[in-house]
Amino acid sequence: MHSLDGHKIVVASHNAGKLREFADLMAPFGIEAKSAKEYGLPEPDETGITFEENALIKALAAAKATGLPALSDDSGLCVDALGGAPGVYTANWAEAPDGSRDFGMAMQRAEVALQEIGAVAPAQRKGRFVAVICLAFPDGAAEYFRGEVDGTLVWPPRGELGFGYDPVFVPDGFEKTFGEMTAEEKHGWKPGQPTALSHRARAFQKFAQARLDLARSGVK
Ligand code: IMP
Repeated sequence: MHSLDGHKIVVASHNAGKLREFADLMAPFGIEAKSAKEYGLPEPDETGITFEENALIKALAAAKATGLPALSDDSGLCVDALGGAPGVYTANWAEAPDGSRDFGMAMQRAEVALQEIGAVAPAQRKGRFVAVICLAFPDGAAEYFRGEVDGTLVWPPRGELGFGYDPVFVPDGFEKTFGEMTAEEKHGWKPGQPTALSHRARAFQKFAQARLDLARSGVK
């Protein structure tokens, strides 16, 4: 197994929301992490049809370009009543005609699709956020860590925190949307609290348990 000891790591993302969350999650471990954006790397085309394939494309491109281990995140929202859509196309649903991203429009698109099939009761609006983290090395070796969180889509959107589809997603067991939670609440993972909440924090927790020095961080 390739070692991470003494290595810097590239976070293979240009997404500001993801980068902020990765910075939080990595903070206790003292890893030197710079983003693909800071290295001036281009964003590769996400041509895969699974989260794992797209996570590999991103991590491998960054690892090969920098010669460093790279950590990527491919994630999305899968709505049961929509046959798992938008799934790997979650970011694409936010693409505005001018090429910018509009998540208000993307959330509305999911809502219109749910209303078209009469999915108004909470039980008909279940889904999950999925995140697959890929750790890739310049020689092509790769490992995957998957996290999921079940929840219900609500309308109208609530909360100004977080990013993407956070304002319409209420994780099971909670009343607030992710958009109404602080970053700490959304991660749900801190020293002495073994269970992460968000899909990304759950995937990161698996990565940390497998690859990082937990004793040093004080995180369980
Ligand atoms: P990709 O991984 O670059 O394909 O993009 C995933 C998309 O899923 C993001 O652009 C967000 O819209 C959405 N997404 C992923 N994780 C989250 C999250 O934690 N909160 C809200 N939206 C998310």
